[in-house]
Amino acid sequence: MADTPNPDIIYTKVDEAPELASASLLPIIQRFAAAADISVGTKDISLAGRILSAFPEHLSADQRVTDDLAELGKLVNTPAANVIKLPNISASGPQLLAAIAELQSKGFALPDYPETPSSDAEKAIRAKYDAIKGSAVNPVLREGNSDRRAAVAVKNYAMANPHRMGDWSATSKTRVAAMSGGDFFSNETAATLASASTVKIVLETADGTTVLKDGISYPAGTVVDATYMSAKALDAFLAEEIDKAKAEGVLFSLHLKATMMKVSDPIIFGHAVKVWLAPVFEKFADKLAALGVNPNSGLGDLLDRVKDDAEITAAIDAISTTRPPMYMVNSDRGITNLHVPSDVIVDASMPALIRAGGKGWGPDNKEHDAVCVIPDNAYAPVYDETIKFFKANGKLNPATAGTVQNIGLMAQKAEEYGSHPTTFEIPEAGTVKMILEDGTVLHSHAVEAGDIWRSSSARKAPIEDWINLAISRQKATGYRAIFWLDPARAHDAELIAYVKPILAAAGVADKFEIMDPRSATRASFETITKGENTIAITGNVLRDYLTDLFPILELATSAKMLSIVKLMNGGGLFETGAGGSAPKHVQQLIEENHLRWDSLGEFCALGESLQFLADAKGNARAKVLGQAVDAATQGILDHDRSPSRKVGEPDNRDSHYWFARYWAEALATQSEDGELAKEFAPVAKALAENEAKIAAELVAGQGAPADIGGYYYPDPAKLAAVMRPSGTLNQIIG
Ligand code: NAP
Ligand code: MG
Repeated sequence: MADTPNPDIIYTKVDEAPELASASLLPIIQRFAAAADISVGTKDISLAGRILSAFPEHLSADQRVTDDLAELGKLVNTPAANVIKLPNISASGPQLLAAIAELQSKGFALPDYPETPSSDAEKAIRAKYDAIKGSAVNPVLREGNSDRRAAVAVKNYAMANPHRMGDWSATSKTRVAAMSGGDFFSNETAATLASASTVKIVLETADGTTVLKDGISYPAGTVVDATYMSAKALDAFLAEEIDKAKAEGVLFSLHLKATMMKVSDPIIFGHAVKVWLAPVFEKFADKLAALGVNPNSGLGDLLDRVKDDAEITAAIDAISTTRPPMYMVNSDRGITNLHVPSDVIVDASMPALIRAGGKGWGPDNKEHDAVCVIPDNAYAPVYDETIKFFKANGKLNPATAGTVQNIGLMAQKAEEYGSHPTTFEIPEAGTVKMILEDGTVLHSHAVEAGDIWRSSSARKAPIEDWINLAISRQKATGYRAIFWLDPARAHDAELIAYVKPILAAAGVADKFEIMDPRSATRASFETITKGENTIAITGNVLRDYLTDLFPILELATSAKMLSIVKLMNGGGLFETGAGGSAPKHVQQLIEENHLRWDSLGEFCALGESLQFLADAKGNARAKVLGQAVDAATQGILDHDRSPSRKVGEPDNRDSHYWFARYWAEALATQSEDGELAKEFAPVAKALAENEAKIAAELVAGQGAPADIGGYYYPDPAKLAAVMRPSGTLNQIIG
């Protein structure tokens, strides 16, 4: 469908499972919206789309695409923004390479990714590709703070239909391991800028001064912090935990966020690979370098590169016998925790392990207790305390538990730890200084070669907006409200200095508590265990972590969360769910043509987006359409129309049929807009009359492989054929 120039609503084009789902759902949404004169356009923020838009000079005229992310970045700063944002890939190194290779094979003459750029031209290409990696989309779009919670209907459904939870035993050997010093948490310094300033970051060594970064400008009131992780302390810690896991007879597991924290965390991951195979790296350093081994790319890449060298593979086998069993990503295929840096992502992996009663899968394809290594101590205590709570009290009961909502600070790249262009692996020993334009040294850290230094910032306007959002949410609910801030931590102390006066001025100081993350975790579990509710008011990282942790325990998944970004300039950004793009779901579709992706997050976001259009633009038909979406979402829950996980049963496509049907029925029976009722009555009737025929057509192709013509850049015609297999449904939708 051709896009109108300024659509009322933008629906993002993304990757993997949510994009497969869009091939079926978006035509339904566009058809229903058009009947109410509401246009729904698309913007491409997929990994492939972002790569193509970065290299127009390498593409033919008909291959070139616009930079939709940049356009959206402008739009979200205007009151006109009304964007439904689906999850997209935050690409790790290996994913970026795979996407480039796929596009090249499809005739796009993209340059190779320069692993070791030498010329200026190569350095420029490398810089363009690196800007696409990791969390490259969300920080651009999130020009507002975050309000995430389970919609009432979703929470009620989860309580009435509690999911299975693994039992927790008091004798479980599962535990969290974090560094006792030398980490980002313990080395942090922070300051609030009294006046606007540009800032430069330099490394002073015995040989002179190198400028790491210059010309960053921060407005007055910005909280700027800096810290580093000691490579030596990290290596010693990893070696000790590997030995302890062996002695304790548990799985070794490492939980990082190598996608979002795209600079720091792949390096930490690489340290784990090197420590795991320490004797091999010592003995064969030159050979490994010659083979192009980069430990940050993971054990999978390493094993592939050394597979023809009998000496090295024998040495690896010899070490393996001295190591503890590793937590597996896929034990059938021998994929370990250390194979690919983006396979185990802490915010999804820890809640899954906790939901399973503290168990992970081992190489023997059985469940075992595990040591969960989360090197940095800033947020590891959240998982440690959760595990201690369940060991002492047993698993959470989703039938009776209350809910934890979240108000998260994230606007204008607040607290984008480790993903910033202000994170560095230090090349040689010296002192890193952060210097203001008047010469004031804001931060100074003595570092050694290999240490990871990072700075992040949070601006005044976003911080104030966040606190006010928390005040209005607390007022709307009356819930126990906790700021998850640690007075003993440098960065948090600066935020507390903002929080307290604003609460006092609003006369609501008695309605809020301030607690460090460990105490707040315990208080939150105590609260929801009693069946009561609480609001977690957190920084950016905990926003991400907690809106997976609590929903996964309360609702089984974070995919059903309502995720609203109230843009600071008046627009609305509606994220769908709080989870990711579910790569495993794509694999299942390709292998057996079953898509278990649940679009409930999309349904909830669509309802909110239409409501926003009604409120902001006084669009009466958007209100009618939005209320009908809410009714349809309720219908999906009440009648259990969500996708099944098993092949041969109703899947994502079937749930879209029901969504369309309940939506049409709600429109046909409402009395606010007679014209819409008249238009949708025959649609509802046709959908109901053809129920059996459509259901049969939708499952007919299941069981056999599906060809969508690519992974990162599927063929639209093939994708449509797979995702819209019911001719009867397509005809009714028109
Ligand atoms: P994930 O895609 O959320 O996958 C974790 C698991 O959650 C899935 O395997 C699936 O479990 C379940 N799940 C998530 N959404 C679901 C849905 N709508 N319906 C049913 N089940 C759902 O997390 P990940 O593996 O950490 O990340 C994968 C990719 O997504 C990465 O590239 C990451 O960067 C990206 N990501 C993007 C965003 C964003 O754009 N906002 C957020 C997070 C992650 P089962 O397989 O057991 O069914
Ligand atoms: Mg998350």
